[in-house]
Amino acid sequence: MQRRKSLVRCLMMSVNVTAAVAWEAGKPLVIEEVEVAPPQKMEVRIKILFTSLCHTDVYFWEAKGQNPVFPRILGHEAGGVVESVGEGVTELQPGDHVLPVFTGECKECAHCKSEESNMCDLLRINTDRGVMIHDQKSRFSINGKPIFHFVGTSTFSEYTVVHVGCLAKINPLAPLDKVCVLSCGISTGLGATLNVAKPKKGSSVAIFGLGAVGLAAAEGARIAGASRIIGVDLNANRFELAKKFGVTEFVNPKDYKKPVQEVIAEMTNGGVDRSVECTGHIDAMISAFECVHDGWGVAVLVGVPHKDAVFKTSPLNLLNERTLKGTFFGNYKPRSDIPSVVEKYMNKELELEKFITHEVPFSEINKAFDLMLKGEGLRCIIRMGE
Ligand code: NAD
Ligand code: ZN
Repeated sequence: MQRRKSLVRCLMMSVNVTAAVAWEAGKPLVIEEVEVAPPQKMEVRIKILFTSLCHTDVYFWEAKGQNPVFPRILGHEAGGVVESVGEGVTELQPGDHVLPVFTGECKECAHCKSEESNMCDLLRINTDRGVMIHDQKSRFSINGKPIFHFVGTSTFSEYTVVHVGCLAKINPLAPLDKVCVLSCGISTGLGATLNVAKPKKGSSVAIFGLGAVGLAAAEGARIAGASRIIGVDLNANRFELAKKFGVTEFVNPKDYKKPVQEVIAEMTNGGVDRSVECTGHIDAMISAFECVHDGWGVAVLVGVPHKDAVFKTSPLNLLNERTLKGTFFGNYKPRSDIPSVVEKYMNKELELEKFITHEVPFSEINKAFDLMLKGEGLRCIIRMGE
């Protein structure tokens, strides 16, 4: 008993670890020694083993269209192991393998209780918040000066503190250097197709935008058994890569004088059965909707648009029985659903290796930013502790 008490006490201490701190917008991250406080009520401290870089990290690092919150520890796609748990945490214990997720699942609110929604009231993504919900304080500091959190995950640190509702407990046999990409982009695209567009076997699907999210949506179409997967992108360099993801045909809107929705309608005898938009550009969103077949076509919007963008189409397009939907994190509930997405990878139903195009040690994390800014590759895995 005495031993157990002292073990608990020792786990509840701050730890000094290495983290990559974004001190200012657009400036390279700096590797620093950071103090990470113990987890408080309903919080978990985890050791991050692998993290990857997603566009959202870059947007908030550049902070062009967003509220600048600095100094901050970015990072939200990752895999790690539980080190210690705070008061009230019963479903996780030290040693459990987890994926932190930028949005959460409290399991108590109307959204969490609904079978349809994953937009948890308590833990829904909040990009402006740089502190923990419990006491509105940060768990990170350097010489007593707080460093802000990012979307409740801050995975560019050897240790981080996360609300238990933002952690998916996964199969401990799953390789964290692969499944870490399921924390955000890949699950978003995959779920947009499998959970929301739901193409039937043998159907046609158009994917707008062939970045990591769009290619994950294509992977979903392949898994669902779609027979035609039409990839649409303004960047022809994406087409070669997309072949590995089951994309069967390519359309570059720049090659045509007429709107791309007309090109697709001609290719498919009136329109595709499903479309998934993963660009974040309003024109592509409108084309993605207008290229689905009347009577049954469903278009799903995934890309995050400019804050002033307006979606304009004739209401007749809806009256003619086309459906327009949008989705957040592929409609997956982080704690309830993500463990089963990891199992899809373990069963070899879902391929993840093809999304991982680069790897760097943590000390070279800025290289991952350079690759993304140059538009090279899909996902760069950052190995912690190196
Ligand atoms: P990315 O930049 O890697 O890929 C976007 C692709 O779209 C690029 O290849 C680009 O050439 C192409 N593109 C741009 N405009 C186009 C147009 N008008 N027509 C055709 N192609 C066009 O981005 P990504 O990481 O794959 O993310 C895609 C989108 O998904 C982003 O907007 C991102 O913010 C969003 N996202 C949404 C969620 C969610 O939950 N809804 C989660 C993660 C990411
Ligand atoms: Zn909830």
